[in-house]
Amino acid sequence: APSIVLIRRDLRLGDNPALTEAIKRGGPVILLYIRETDDPDAGALGAAQRWWLHHSLTRHMKACESRGNLIILRTGSQNEIVQKIAKETGATAIFWNRRYHLKGRETDADLKRWAKDHGLEAKSFAANLLHEPSKLLTGAGGPYRVYTPFWKAFSATESFGEPLPPPSKIRAPERLPESEILDDWKLLPTKPNWAGSFMDAWIPGEQGAKVALIFFLEEAMRGYRTQRDFPGSKTTSRLSPHLALGEISPLQIWHAVEEAEKGYPTEDTIHFRKELVWREFSWHLLFHYPDLANKEFNPRFADFGWSHDERAFRAWTRGITGYPIVDAGMRELWQTGWMHNRVRMIAASFLIKDLMIDWRYGEQWFRDTLVDADPASNAASWQWVAGSGADAAPYFRIFNPVLQGEKFDPKGDYIRRYVPEIEGLGNEAIHKPFEASKALLDKAEIRLGFTYPKPMVDHGVARDRALRAYDAVKGNT
Ligand code: FAD
Repeated sequence: APSIVLIRRDLRLGDNPALTEAIKRGGPVILLYIRETDDPDAGALGAAQRWWLHHSLTRHMKACESRGNLIILRTGSQNEIVQKIAKETGATAIFWNRRYHLKGRETDADLKRWAKDHGLEAKSFAANLLHEPSKLLTGAGGPYRVYTPFWKAFSATESFGEPLPPPSKIRAPERLPESEILDDWKLLPTKPNWAGSFMDAWIPGEQGAKVALIFFLEEAMRGYRTQRDFPGSKTTSRLSPHLALGEISPLQIWHAVEEAEKGYPTEDTIHFRKELVWREFSWHLLFHYPDLANKEFNPRFADFGWSHDERAFRAWTRGITGYPIVDAGMRELWQTGWMHNRVRMIAASFLIKDLMIDWRYGEQWFRDTLVDADPASNAASWQWVAGSGADAAPYFRIFNPVLQGEKFDPKGDYIRRYVPEIEGLGNEAIHKPFEASKALLDKAEIRLGFTYPKPMVDHGVARDRALRAYDAVKGNT
């Protein structure tokens, strides 16, 4: 009898325990991808990630086809669809890799109950995190709220084992259930096709993930610790969109780093592992605090006096704030679906602290425009910048966009790539065109307020305003 394998944010053949189990069982396998319209964290993805999903699924479908099977596509409620297909095909087992957001967990638990009541085997596997959030707990038995002890627990783990190899064959049932057609899902943006240039920056799919990992280990791992903060060159792995849809597992990455460690300075590899563990930390937080994307982790922030300036928000989204490092970041996001981590922090700090706009607006914008949109890392990071999160940035840390730009993009390479209208300025002025002399501006053919905006707020004034607001929260114990 056939087994059903649910495919979710795990679009890979390698290190896929649910798939491996189904194949081991010996019978035919029904590969099922459901677009869950009732679950925003699973099915109704943001626009940039829909673009990614289209290409990733296309490639995954081809990879499965070359191994003898086809992925069945369906839209609707996961459990209704699975139950219907199980009845139609006589499937006697259902396997899946676990997911960790509340709605997904509840849906999967319901499915397990249904399977048990109907005599089907249902088994779930740990595959998308290195440590299970229900198991890695503090000495007192609660979740970690602080990163350092969480990291210590990770470093104390001697081995996470070996990743599973990809199968060479996946036996198909004689009659496949009906499938929807991927193109009918219209996942790609049409008018305007703002994702048109994404393909220049990415290779979606399992193979692309492998290439990104190899490239990173060979070209950028050495020096990662010191170089990772500089957005002007490719100094980080850019694995995040691959991880977000599970084209590569954290175990595969961890394992490859262990292998590479034999040839690299450990300060670089350790720092990289620490970043991977931030992803885990974020997922553990979301597991224990399911409302992380909506509600302040620190309740003292519940009544914070956010501003609701729609015009200012739009200027931020378009990258026309008048602060070049913020604008470059927001345009990198729009043009490539991704933004460098340092610049994410600067741009987020600008929205929250200079414009005093509610972090939830930023979280939603990122969710819609990032190809790596991740329900846990995005929510946890936004709360971290806002100061309301677990182990958050201290409230008095307000990034100065000019100093940050000068420090992390000293030659202005990043600015010139994404804000070409000021490329003619020298390095001493490129991060603060509003302080450049008229002669310098004329020479660079810049007319502030016309060819490039004047700063929408004065950072010094905005900083004082934010500090006052944050002081009020601090006193509100
Ligand atoms: P690398 O430096 O190569 O790191 C390797 C991996 O570690 C990443 O792929 C990622 O999985 C993980 N990682 C690194 N930094 C972090 C971090 N700070 N928090 C959690 N995981 C991390 N990351 C997302 O994957 N999805 C998001 O939606 C997301 N939203 C963010 C929003 C804000 C406001 C900020 C400040 C950060 C956000 N991040 C998010 C975290 C981080 O910016 C990205 O993971 C990182 O830039 C991805 O690039 P990379 O793969 O080259 O990272």
